[in-house]
Amino acid sequence: MDETQRLAHFDHAHVWHPFTPMRQWREHEPLIVDRADGFELIDTHGNRYIDGFSSLWCNVHGHRVPEIDRAITDQLSRVAHSTLLGFSNAPSIELAARLVETVNTPTEGAEPPLVGARLERVFFSDAGATATEVAFKMVVGHHYHSGHPERDTLIGFSGAYHGDTIGAMSVGYVDAFHRPYRKLTFRTVWAPAPDVCRTDAPTNDPREWPSWDQERRVRVCDHALKEFERVLDEVGEHAAGVVIEPLMQGAGGMIEQPEGFLAGVARAARSRNIPLIADAVAVGFGRTGAMFACELEGVRPDVLCLAKGITGGYLPLAATLCTNDIAASFEGEHHERRTLYHGHTYTGNQLGCAAALASLDLFKKNDILSNVGVLQQRLRSRLRAELADLPTVGDVRIRGVMAGIELVASRSPWRSLDPEHRLAVQVCELARQRGLMIRPLGNVVILMPAPAMPLETLDRMLDILIAVIRTCGTDAKVSTVHPRSMEAPLS
Ligand SMILES: *Cc1c(COP(=O)(O)O)cnc(C)c1O
Repeated sequence: MDETQRLAHFDHAHVWHPFTPMRQWREHEPLIVDRADGFELIDTHGNRYIDGFSSLWCNVHGHRVPEIDRAITDQLSRVAHSTLLGFSNAPSIELAARLVETVNTPTEGAEPPLVGARLERVFFSDAGATATEVAFKMVVGHHYHSGHPERDTLIGFSGAYHGDTIGAMSVGYVDAFHRPYRKLTFRTVWAPAPDVCRTDAPTNDPREWPSWDQERRVRVCDHALKEFERVLDEVGEHAAGVVIEPLMQGAGGMIEQPEGFLAGVARAARSRNIPLIADAVAVGFGRTGAMFACELEGVRPDVLCLAKGITGGYLPLAATLCTNDIAASFEGEHHERRTLYHGHTYTGNQLGCAAALASLDLFKKNDILSNVGVLQQRLRSRLRAELADLPTVGDVRIRGVMAGIELVASRSPWRSLDPEHRLAVQVCELARQRGLMIRPLGNVVILMPAPAMPLETLDRMLDILIAVIRTCGTDAKVSTVHPRSMEAPLS
């Protein structure tokens, strides 16, 4: 038995993989990553793969980046972990100050001025899901301590994803994931997310993708904002906060919001004094071309959730930032019991914070945001030009270095693929055989190159992917199943 077989044996026997049908998993030898080199991962057989999904959306500067490696080993020579409960440590203090400075300073360029109060307070945790859970407690606790215990209902958007802990599940609802656990979740009210692709009549031009039609985008945006206001009116004085993935719903299938939607949501929430929680876990740290996505619409949320790219994709760390106004409602005399009784063992871990500081330095030094602009341009031009004639490509959605290619039975008229068809899975498997590591979401093939990826690597990635999509699956089974029938019911 060689080393890979030995590891595969124990993997199959003992490791429970996330989001993975385990019986089928055991039918194949797992791809066991052994090491990395820049933007490539190398398996135990020595095969190289381009990391086309940023190791689940978190890698920023590539792997084994000397500056981040050094920051971690330097920190390691001092201390790996103590705690923020009752004590403090330098890396978390430095990082909190740096995050505050960074989120309140818009990315240089043409962005509109930021509207809203500054974010001043940073609560550290260790995953995207924990960052959102803290955010929910921040707003609900804020109202409670301000004499408004009735303001306890969160408003989310259909098809959203905020993580897999019970609270995060309650606000981002995907029926297939959550059905057995519905009793455990709390009541949330959902507004319909704008979906340019499906909300409207299909496009009649077979060469065009629906989500690129400007007039259609405006119409869908206006309609979704009206619906949102209707939901706000319905929830009325019970509204605790609005939770949104800014610009792009990631795990829901790369559902891109039309221009002006985020700003419209922020305006409507603000006019009613409802805090806005931006879950920038996926869209933070350069993903969309700005540092934190919200700036692209001049929005400063009241609470901002960060994770994934925060350490450059090195270590589990997350941060929830809020305004002084919200933080202040948790301060008082002991007998008032306003303290936020919430924390995690590894809160403010020094290694993670040191990695995050080094990653932030690299954003400036390597001008990562300009690189994202270049990559976005290439994704747009190549995917549009080279997939346009394929009737099985229903839509191509791109924001910065987040891209979703939706496979369909037919684009015009729009007919979704049977979810059982697994065409996107097949595409990703073939891509992997040719040296590209990516993962699908339902019928959507996801591309998530690292923001720092060189153009040449992106081109190699696109060569593989486009060739695979072109050779794959013209035998698509037709289905009329709404692909987002997982959408949340309006409660
Ligand atoms: C991934 C993700 C999360 C959850 O992050 P974890 O670190 O996996 O808990 C939350 N919100 C969004 C928008 C995400 O993309």
